[in-house]
Amino acid sequence: MSQWSWKQAVAEQSVNIVNSNKNAEFDLEQIYALESVFRERFPKNRHVREKIRQTLQRLRDIGFLEFLRGGRYRLNLAFTDLELETARAGEPGISVPETRTVVRSIRIRNTLLATDMKHRYENVCQVCQETVQLTDATYAESHHVKPLGSPHFGPDTEGNILVVCPNHHVMFDRGALAVDPTDLLVSHISGAFEPRFLFILPWHNLNRRALEYHQSRIYGKKHLSRKR
Ligand SMILES: [Zn+2]
Repeated sequence: MSQWSWKQAVAEQSVNIVNSNKNAEFDLEQIYALESVFRERFPKNRHVREKIRQTLQRLRDIGFLEFLRGGRYRLNLAFTDLELETARAGEPGISVPETRTVVRSIRIRNTLLATDMKHRYENVCQVCQETVQLTDATYAESHHVKPLGSPHFGPDTEGNILVVCPNHHVMFDRGALAVDPTDLLVSHISGAFEPRFLFILPWHNLNRRALEYHQSRIYGKKHLSRKR
């Protein structure tokens, strides 16, 4: 999980720099200037600068940042997981032209993790192994097996997330599909499709208790449509 916390930390600090300069571009020196912040957060790491550079590359891979020439970076203001807030007078923040909002913080909670997982699955659904093709990109959604919100309070971790297409997402949310925690067989409550094994990549350690929870509390139940 440390790779994930680095991503979170570097993303946060990038947003802070961008907001205080009111400019979406920044350079490595500006991030290095915050070295002590990272040292404090990751006291065991001896290669902080190297780690920062590596993490910036990973953030670039998921579309959070762009690399410019001359060692400069640009925050991708269109990145869907940036949380845009309405500007309040006098507050630091960079304005986004059309919407007149400012980027002040990012919803770190689950979106970067989920984005990262979708990237690693290349937007391929873990149920049907298909991807949704858009004009110039592919698309998938992330499903929290044990929902995050009340009354479930599922964990926001890799093990509780599945990468799925929109169709299979809604089927999980509405209790039409479930993954068997023992053999990872995906079944439809009304037998609408042949049971099939979940597609899973080796690094993805699914939380079996979350699967059990979904199977016993959500699968086959009606009126559980409160989506998150
Ligand atoms: Zn699917």
